[in-house]
Order: sequence, then C-alpha cells, then structure tokens
Amino acid sequence: MGEFEQVVARLADADLLTEKQAAAYLGIEVDHAGRQQVASYLDISPSTLDSHTRAARDKVAAAEETLDIIEEYERDRYPPAPDECDECGGAIGGAFVRTEGGDVFCSDCGDVDSPREVDDRLPDPNTD
Ligand SMILES: [Zn+2]
Repeated sequence: MGEFEQVVARLADADLLTEKQAAAYLGIEVDHAGRQQVASYLDISPSTLDSHTRAARDKVAAAEETLDIIEEYERDRYPPAPDECDECGGAIGGAFVRTEGGDVFCSDCGDVDSPREVDDRLPDPNTD
C-alpha cells in the first residue's frame, strides 16, 4: 500500500472524512493532481469528485476553526509555564511573574527587582 493509500485509510479511520473525501482532498488540495486523474483513480465522475472535495474542504475548515477556538481558549486560561527566568536564567519550577512585556521572572527575581527599584526612585511621602 502506497503512502497516499495509507494516509487516506488513516484519515478515514479518524472518522471526520469518508475514504472518498479523504482521497479527493489529498489529491486535489494537497497533491494538486489533475481533477480528471483523481476522478478516474477513484472511479467516479469529475463532478462527483468535486462534491467530495467540497465536502472535505468544509469539514477540514470546520475542524481547523474548532481547534483554533479551543486552543485559544486554553492558551488564555492556562498559558504554558516558561522554562527559565529571563533575569537569572534559572529553571522556573513553581511560581513565576510575567510582565506585560512578556518577560518572565522566577519568584526570586520577580519579587526582588520590580518593587524595590520602583520604591527607590519614588520620593518618600513621609519626608517633606
Ligand atoms: Zn530569576
């Protein structure tokens, strides 16, 4: 069994596309094979091929949009934990601070740097 047939079989197993839709999509959209060529390979008419291609395209687009929405939702709620601190380069095990600019600090660097630097520059409101 060639690679094309294997991928068609895997796609059909994944239960989104029928075997003909999978073959039509791979042949037309991915391999950019001729319409007539794919139609005769599948032993169907070119216009039947077109409807399989169209149905597959719609399903693939719907699947992509669905995944995008789910991933966006997940990223917003649970941003992936960074690997290392942008300040000391140490591995980030647990808690970390993420600045609005996207820099990530371990809890040590995040605690020490930002609040004290700001405090030092501000005039002390108690001395007049
Ligand atoms: Zn650090």
